[in-house]
Amino acid sequence: MKISFPRMGNSFIAFKMLINSLGHEAIVPPAPSERTLSLGVRYAPEFACIPFKILLGTYLEAIELGTEMIITSGGVGPCRAGYYGVLHQMILNDLGHKVKIMVIEPPLRDIFGFIRNVKTLIKPTRIGWRTFWHHLKTAWEKLVALDDIERISHQVRPYEVNRGETTKVYERVLQMLDEARNIQEITEARVEGERLLRQIPCDYNRPTLKVGIIGEIYVVIEPFANHDLQVTLESMGVETQRAIYLSGYTRDCFVFDSEHDVKKAAAPYLNELIGGHGINSVGETVLYARHGFDGVVQLAPFACIPEIVAKSILPKVSHDLGIPVLTLFIDEQTGKAGIQTRLEAFVDLLWQRRQMMEVRPAI
Ligand code: SF4
Repeated sequence: MKISFPRMGNSFIAFKMLINSLGHEAIVPPAPSERTLSLGVRYAPEFACIPFKILLGTYLEAIELGTEMIITSGGVGPCRAGYYGVLHQMILNDLGHKVKIMVIEPPLRDIFGFIRNVKTLIKPTRIGWRTFWHHLKTAWEKLVALDDIERISHQVRPYEVNRGETTKVYERVLQMLDEARNIQEITEARVEGERLLRQIPCDYNRPTLKVGIIGEIYVVIEPFANHDLQVTLESMGVETQRAIYLSGYTRDCFVFDSEHDVKKAAAPYLNELIGGHGINSVGETVLYARHGFDGVVQLAPFACIPEIVAKSILPKVSHDLGIPVLTLFIDEQTGKAGIQTRLEAFVDLLWQRRQMMEVRPAI
């Protein structure tokens, strides 16, 4: 069967491996582009959030490549993500496409649904459960390695001596990980990738700011959706950190919830589940403030309820803990130049604030 999936950062490298190893043909959709977005905008409800529109465009592009089935994840909590699969399926059917969307819900929430879905995938290719777990474990190792390598690239880029060198090396490492076929090769590619990134000439004495990135998972992870915000900030010499990576999110959904620290930090301000990553946005801002970060950027899809709720709480957190927060709402009208201008202004403000704090006499 020809199977496709949503693109979110570089995770497609691991998903492609998993689907191919299960005996199907992975159809990797093109990286999201203006065309993807305009396809999604054309057929999605006007007030759908931007992840919905980009995903719809991605599915239409995957269908052009011959996809018969699309595998996607479900959503937990009071947020529209839980309806994405159903609504996408209806829109694609209305457009005359016979493609089937398989929604994989977190097993912690629906173990029988998860087993049913896996059976649908492994039955046609006569793969046993043991072999399935083996391939799943290998793909998981690749996903974790992809995220680890990306994290290192974010540590190195703000300090690189030659602008653009980290991105070049990072792309080479991604290629190495893409070519790795088993756990041993993945480990070797990861170790070599880290070595290559760490040996990039850097000036660690250069003064930098530290900015945390929070917000809705899709726009935080997918560079097309956030107009390459993280790399843009790092090119301005800002060290960035984000808590959301797909491997961490998957671990929380599929194995155990490791977000107790974030939820505990958010509790004085927000103590109930509001869907999406709303509670994380509040809790992570508290943690970034405690860890001495200079500022926080919140990425919020336009009309995203969880992030709107978080945004209404963040001024209080910002005031109490003395951490500036910039919220960027993102929709199909948002342009890279607008994001860049706002980031430059925010970074200038953070530098001025840092200087004022340095000259302020001790009391
Ligand atoms: S978290 Fe926000 S952007 Fe994501 S699906 Fe829910 S409402 Fe949409």
